[in-house]
Amino acid sequence: MNIIMLGAPGAGKGTIAALIKEKYNLPHISTGDIFRANIKEETELGKLAKSYIDKGALVPDDVTINMVMDRLSNDDCKSGYILDGFPRTIVQATEFEKALQKSNTKIDVCILVDGDDDMIANRLSGRRVCEKCGASYHIEHMKPVKEGICDKCGGNLIHRKDDTVDVIKDRLKTYHEQTQPLIDYYGKNGNLKTVSGFLGSKEEIIKAIEGILN
Ligand code: AMP
Repeated sequence: MNIIMLGAPGAGKGTIAALIKEKYNLPHISTGDIFRANIKEETELGKLAKSYIDKGALVPDDVTINMVMDRLSNDDCKSGYILDGFPRTIVQATEFEKALQKSNTKIDVCILVDGDDDMIANRLSGRRVCEKCGASYHIEHMKPVKEGICDKCGGNLIHRKDDTVDVIKDRLKTYHEQTQPLIDYYGKNGNLKTVSGFLGSKEEIIKAIEGILN
């Protein structure tokens, strides 16, 4: 099963994708995570990506598409994948569609995680992520057992540089201008399903996902 997660940054795509990964045993491919890993390792791709990410802008389409196609060619994607954060522009979506057609595959479902800007700004500014495993927490709504430490792996929790108020504004602007048109695109070209980013418990989210995927 090939799945696309669509929605604003902070809407909850990553959390839902992680649950789908756990339940359906599919690789969770987050373009943001791949860029951040490259930044950490100080690769050429990382250096380039950082200059865009720090501003709340998107990394150029050609670079992003090549990176994703390379990742999808790995063996673990043969029986499906969850794409989280890609595509983010109409160019990415149309180029991706062409590549899928060439390889005779398709996207089975595009899951839109819905949320309004106020909720998203609150989520992002209070978000803390594990620098080791990427697990996500919130300073009010989803606190770790021990402050600053990841429950899952014991890694340090950090406040992402692009989760600060100024960059959040730019990221939301970028989302509305460049990514939101994809809702229409997948509404027409794909199997678009919407889940609320307000879903609270793990059980609630799993129930919504099962409703869509089963
Ligand atoms: P995320 O963790 O998904 O919010 O991504 C963090 C940042 O990585 C974004 O604000 C973009 O700068 C960059 N990024 C992630 N995915 C893409 C994409 N598909 N196209 C361009 N830039 C991306």
